[in-house]
Amino acid sequence: MQPATQAWLFAAGRLLATVVFGAGAGWLFGNLWLGLACALALHLTWMLVYLFRLEWWLRHRNYADPPDVGGVWGEIIAQVVRLHRRKRFHKQRFVQLMRQLQRSTAALPDGVVILNAQREIVWFNRMAARLLNLRRTGDLGMRIEHLVRAPEFVRYLAAGDFANPVVVRTATGEDGFLSLQVAPYGDGQLLLLVRDVSRQIRLEAVRRDFVANASHELRSPLTVISGYLETLAADPVLDAELQGPIAEMRRQAERMTAIIRDLIELSRLEETDEVVGGEPVDVAALASLLRKDVLARPVHPRDVRLRIESAAQLLGDEPEIHSAFSNLVDNAAKYTPAEGSIEIRWWTDADGAHFAVTDTGMGVPAEHIPRLTERFYRVDAGRSRATGGSGLGLAIVKHVLQRHGATLEVESTLGSGSTFTCHFPPERILPVARAAAATA
Ligand code: ADP
Repeated sequence: MQPATQAWLFAAGRLLATVVFGAGAGWLFGNLWLGLACALALHLTWMLVYLFRLEWWLRHRNYADPPDVGGVWGEIIAQVVRLHRRKRFHKQRFVQLMRQLQRSTAALPDGVVILNAQREIVWFNRMAARLLNLRRTGDLGMRIEHLVRAPEFVRYLAAGDFANPVVVRTATGEDGFLSLQVAPYGDGQLLLLVRDVSRQIRLEAVRRDFVANASHELRSPLTVISGYLETLAADPVLDAELQGPIAEMRRQAERMTAIIRDLIELSRLEETDEVVGGEPVDVAALASLLRKDVLARPVHPRDVRLRIESAAQLLGDEPEIHSAFSNLVDNAAKYTPAEGSIEIRWWTDADGAHFAVTDTGMGVPAEHIPRLTERFYRVDAGRSRATGGSGLGLAIVKHVLQRHGATLEVESTLGSGSTFTCHFPPERILPVARAAAATA
């Protein structure tokens, strides 16, 4: 039998004995009920004494030993002691875990800041204190945007799109850069991860400068080579055997010139990630110019249509927009056979302004689409080389669009054609009335 059952049986037996004893004594003295009442009152008092001891011990259990009693009371006290021990064990484990967690986050090479739903600082590690110049005493409870005041970060927080980090200059004024990434968790809380990316940014700048300088240096000798090749090709007494190789050399020199031109343009675009301001760009006029360029090619798709559905102008940098749109139209012309067609469409709606180039050309296999805007990425080297492409056109398009807050959407089916669409946000549209006033 279980000790608890035994204790309860014993308690029940004792109560029965009390009743029998009380009733017997009362009967002997001629008042059965009085005897019974006295016996039960004694029993109750005895119980109250135990209850008092139990309650006193519960209140002082941190330093007092449990009362040494048996029976049901002993069982209850044993249960309480067990529960108390278990609670203490879990609490200790939790505290240990918390300490370990704090120690490990403190040792992280990255800064970590915990923010509550009001974006106030709840906790931060040593690295965050160093990188963001936070003080443990004064800055807890402060709103993060009052302490990290870089406009890019304030905009990032306000936008609430935390998919990518934002890079800001360090507040100390040194030539340092920090990458700040917010990760939402729990009930509106935010984890702010801070990394020192000064080295990467400096290396990136060195790489960009190197590419830009190398491209500039290569341009002059290439211009000389191209000039001589042109003169040679035009020479009426040129050996017939040399005509083929010289024509090929001219083609390759043209390709190199195109690559260098695109490299210089990419380096210039990469110099700043800033969003460009807005001068009105007449997209309808630009589209018709691009159409003429396609038709001026020696070989071009038979049908080149314009579908201008909006007279609204685009607010952007005219040379950059021209370069992006002409890259898309050029690609459509390059990768579409003579019997195919191209459509250039411009329209606006509630989502903003859209410029799309659709062709019925060779298309791109689905698995290549996400990588098309990488530098020098080609679906297959053969087709690009044959068309004289630099492999940088779509990288330029992506950069230009980024600087205009726009995105590129690519839809393509291998063998039946592609649509490249640039989506501009509504704030990039200059409404028709204002556009008319601007040109008047
Ligand atoms: P390239 O100068 O080689 O054309 P881009 O960056 O402009 O370089 O394009 C990258 C690759 O994407 C090209 O090599 C080509 O394979 C593919 N591509 C781009 N536009 C089209 C299109 N309209 N139709 C089919 N393939 C295309």
